[in-house]
Amino acid sequence: LIHKGDGLQVVVGLGQSGLSVARYLTEQGYRVAVTDKQSAPTLAAQLPAAVDIRQFGAIDTELLLQATRIIISPGIPLTTEAVVAARQANIPVVSDVQLFCEACEVPIVAITGSNAKSTVTTLVGQMAADAGINVGVGGNIGVPALNLLANNDMALAVLELSSFQLETVTNLGAQVATVLNMSPDHLDRHGDMLGYHQAKHRIFQGAQSVVINREDALTRPLVADNLPRISTGIHAPDKGQYGLITDPDGQVYLARGTERLLSADKLLVKGRHNLLNAQAALALGELAGLPLERMLMTLQHFTGLEHRCQYVAQVADIDYFNDSKGTNIGSTMAAIEGLGAVYAPKDGKLLLILGGQGKGQQFGELVPLINQYVSQVLLIGEDSTQIEAHLSAAQLDDDVVRHQCQTLEGAFATIKDVTASSLSQVKAVLLSPACASFDQYASYSARGEHFTQLVAQLATDV
Ligand code: ADP
Repeated sequence: LIHKGDGLQVVVGLGQSGLSVARYLTEQGYRVAVTDKQSAPTLAAQLPAAVDIRQFGAIDTELLLQATRIIISPGIPLTTEAVVAARQANIPVVSDVQLFCEACEVPIVAITGSNAKSTVTTLVGQMAADAGINVGVGGNIGVPALNLLANNDMALAVLELSSFQLETVTNLGAQVATVLNMSPDHLDRHGDMLGYHQAKHRIFQGAQSVVINREDALTRPLVADNLPRISTGIHAPDKGQYGLITDPDGQVYLARGTERLLSADKLLVKGRHNLLNAQAALALGELAGLPLERMLMTLQHFTGLEHRCQYVAQVADIDYFNDSKGTNIGSTMAAIEGLGAVYAPKDGKLLLILGGQGKGQQFGELVPLINQYVSQVLLIGEDSTQIEAHLSAAQLDDDVVRHQCQTLEGAFATIKDVTASSLSQVKAVLLSPACASFDQYASYSARGEHFTQLVAQLATDV
């Protein structure tokens, strides 16, 4: 093995991305050490033999201070003591995405935002594949970015990037980059909206073109005005931009300039937020050189991703929706608004299950939409009392009934009671917690699956 100098590369955090970094750097001939705070990380067995330093059980300052470069996993806060010490000693700290963009020779479509990242990334990837392009899709979704480099024929990379990955990326140099939307999330780690905004906007560094959301000023990059840019929005668009054209009869169309591209009913995914997502995918695809006609075909076949406002079943005339991926206020607002417009246009007929780990968010922001569309709020998870206090302080209407249920099982017991009364008028039940799941589940998908099971069980009980 050729050692690239004596420099030690220290990988901090051994999840899927840490493993991909350790493999990549050893293949490149670097000397690699791996450390993780767990004493027996499950992926340790998969590390290449060439990783000769393995320190598990704590992230050790001594080891980090010996590094020439530190590659940090998105799950490890930059405020970790050993990492702070290393940065003070001027040791560069980067993410796997930095290594990827330095090595990647094909155009990159880079996507971040508070919500809709996976949906839009999947759509753009599908659009490229349908156009016959050898595309790699990864990053914060599915495959760690570095693993995409194994495909020598890759012609385009579509990356979903989280704020944690972007925090330590410099000069990404994407062909096209976007921040889809910005709503409060992860403030427990980024400190405040400014820190979160700064992390996300690093995606624009060195970009050749950008996509902007006209509905959200915080998505506008501070980059030169002459950079090619396309915007998306809910109103009729200017020339060359994407938007919506609404006919006098109420028919809505996806549009580019004055051209109607597709009637909104042709999409299988519903809600205004999905019309914005479709536009973002079209605009990103356009700037990556994908053919419009082909992209419109892809849009018409896209059925959405699991756990994102997904219809589960009807039980006793009530429709159940799993939006377990609704892990922040912004996504839950989109879900309430999307379903509210269908089920409860005038009076609250939604039953909303909310709660989990609140990540320092201000839940009062949900109140206007809850007052409009929701008649029952069921609270679960470790921050449920605090969430209820936020809602009450923000003037939740007195006739919105609140129930402290602790768990999803508890919520279903309450649902049985509530819906047994003919006065309830509940038409749809929505799990959209606006919170992380880790207090009670291994992941949002485990929470969504539990919800789906409880719906199935309810169907056999009634
Ligand atoms: P991410 O990868 O950014 O978490 P997902 O595509 O997985 O995004 O969707 C996360 C949540 O956000 C889901 O609950 C989904 O229904 C909701 N969502 C999707 N698109 C939007 C949007 N444009 N604005 C707000 N919420 C959205």
